[in-house]
Amino acid sequence: MRAAVVTPDHSVEIQDKTLRELKYGEALLSMEYCGVCHTDLHVKNGDFGEVPGIILGHEGIGIVKQIGPGVTSLKPGERASVAWFYKGCGHCEYCNSGNETLCRDVQNAGFSVDGGMAEECIVVADYAVKVPENLDPAAASSITCAGVTTYKAVKVSKIKPGQWIAIYGLGGLGNLALQYAKNVFNAKVVAIDVNDAQLEFAQSVGADLVINPLKEDAAKIMQEKIGGAHASVVTAVARSAFNSAVDCVRAGGRIVAVGLPPESMDLNIPRLVLDGIQVVGSLVGTREDLKEAFQFAAEGKVVPKVSKRPLNDINTIFEEMKNGKITGRMVIDLSL
Ligand code: NAD
Ligand code: ZN
Ligand code: ZN
Repeated sequence: MRAAVVTPDHSVEIQDKTLRELKYGEALLSMEYCGVCHTDLHVKNGDFGEVPGIILGHEGIGIVKQIGPGVTSLKPGERASVAWFYKGCGHCEYCNSGNETLCRDVQNAGFSVDGGMAEECIVVADYAVKVPENLDPAAASSITCAGVTTYKAVKVSKIKPGQWIAIYGLGGLGNLALQYAKNVFNAKVVAIDVNDAQLEFAQSVGADLVINPLKEDAAKIMQEKIGGAHASVVTAVARSAFNSAVDCVRAGGRIVAVGLPPESMDLNIPRLVLDGIQVVGSLVGTREDLKEAFQFAAEGKVVPKVSKRPLNDINTIFEEMKNGKITGRMVIDLSL
């Protein structure tokens, strides 16, 4: 079967691979779609460590083709997902307290184990979340990472109906953060991006205020116009966005860090202490979060903008992503 494999020189090669036999509790998915997340770009570039030989992909959607011994949670013919949170140990303090993505023995699809950017993928059945029947599978792929991550981040922001939330970066993740914040949490949204095309898209999906920080001081505008945001979610892959996200919130505000630029941010200690600012990281979402995120998409509250591409386009897609040319999500269609 064909698969997108990371090479030692930080590129991706389409290789012919043969998967091993299924073990106890595993299932084999015949892959339909796999979204291309900015995290895949970090992984192939070695930003989190070198992983040559690994099959990329953690926004995967496929149909169960075969189940191994002991599987009760999936049946052949059902549709399931391949997410970054591939498997936890199942018995540590994180796994048992609703924080399973923080498990110290976690496995991540497309990073520590082979992922879904391939014609077939092995999953651990109890960890592969089922996709609702009335949700389009290409849209579901985008929810599997971008959707659940931002749904969770907005939850973590503790935003309340009618309050203002600032979303930094309106790419694959950010446009879904906007839609969850607006249509599920009933918040007012400020969209901040350096690319005007992303801001236009943000406006079309309901942003109440849009700001391009290359032209205006985003934090200053928010302090003046709305008295500061109640919370901010940063998906932008830029240190300047993290710094602005701290400056844009009002006293008591919460900054939720989601984007992963391999850098440090500034944090003014008197600002942190005197204004009671909270800065918190948020990592993807649990299986239960993904189930909820799928359901809101199935109800039409969140509509991912996806463009279907063949597997052979993967390196071109990474070029486009690096150059900020993508609106919404590029999704590998394994039937092309
Ligand atoms: P993307 O490339 O689709 O979008 C990034 C957006 O940020 C683009 O629209 C870009 O124009 C914008 N941007 C760049 N510089 C900016 C700036 N200074 N201010 C405002 N906007 C700016 O990427 P994506 O797939 O949405 O992923 C975003 C980041 O989130 C990546 O670092 C990815 O690894 C990370 N991520 C984290 C998690 C998590 O669990 N925390 C999950 C998935 C992805
Ligand atoms: Zn991702
Ligand atoms: Zn664990």
